[in-house]
Amino acid sequence: NDVLHLEMLEKCYNRGQPGEISVLQGLNLTIPRGQVAALVAPSGAGKSTLLHIAGLLDTPDSGRVLIGGEDLSAASDKRRTEARRRDLGFVYQFHHLLPEFSALENIVLPQLANGVGRRAAEARARELLERLGLGARARHRPSALSGGEQQRVAMARALANGPKLLLADEPTGNLDPGTSEVVFGMLMEVVRETGLSALIATHNLDLAGKMDRVLRLAGGRLVE
Ligand code: ADP
Ligand code: ADP
Repeated sequence: NDVLHLEMLEKCYNRGQPGEISVLQGLNLTIPRGQVAALVAPSGAGKSTLLHIAGLLDTPDSGRVLIGGEDLSAASDKRRTEARRRDLGFVYQFHHLLPEFSALENIVLPQLANGVGRRAAEARARELLERLGLGARARHRPSALSGGEQQRVAMARALANGPKLLLADEPTGNLDPGTSEVVFGMLMEVVRETGLSALIATHNLDLAGKMDRVLRLAGGRLVE
């Protein structure tokens, strides 16, 4: 029933060269279904490395990565891509929405890539936009939306394929404190309703304190 299980992860850059740096050193993490964990790390501690490995975008030098109980550390690229599309949702500090597409299309497209039909994908996109308070914004392009609205569309996109695990890197990091709190609150509501698990990197200790646990990345490992 563990959505994410990371076991004894090791990751080193520039091994055997000048500039060798050991970023993950026997890192372990288990996130059960429905748990939301905050990841707090000083810059350079390896937060991006950890999120990329958990997100199946990078591989560790050794150790295991299990998503929903399946060991994907040594799986084929095809299998990892499939698992990434189906089981994982990503939110970044900057929205990375496609500028030439509407809010609705930005949420429809990843579903089409996942094999969902257009009608069902549009219905799902509209439902997510409504839940995030963006029902009247479906036809707008990202450039016509406020920063908080753009991030909510990015969150809807991350949730579009009904992932098991949400991985977020400073999801409200470029918003002012008030907007940040509102947008984060909306994300949490949807996450709680759907029983989703999440690993959310943030420097905002108020937001971190609202999650189920707070993990600090230091010395290549996580400290509770
Ligand atoms: P964070 O996201 O916490 O700032 P990163 O995971 O990006 O940390 O990086 C951790 C350390 O590893 C940093 O010292 C960074 O310079 C180094 N690093 C990250 N990626 C690479 C890479 N591809 N090659 C060499 N060093 C890297
Ligand atoms: P597609 O081929 O449908 O664009 P990918 O297989 O490239 O999808 O990516 C699947 C998921 O992983 C997407 O949600 C995408 O945002 C995310 N992703 C892909 N590449 C990166 C990357 N380099 N950094 C962060 N996220 C990525």
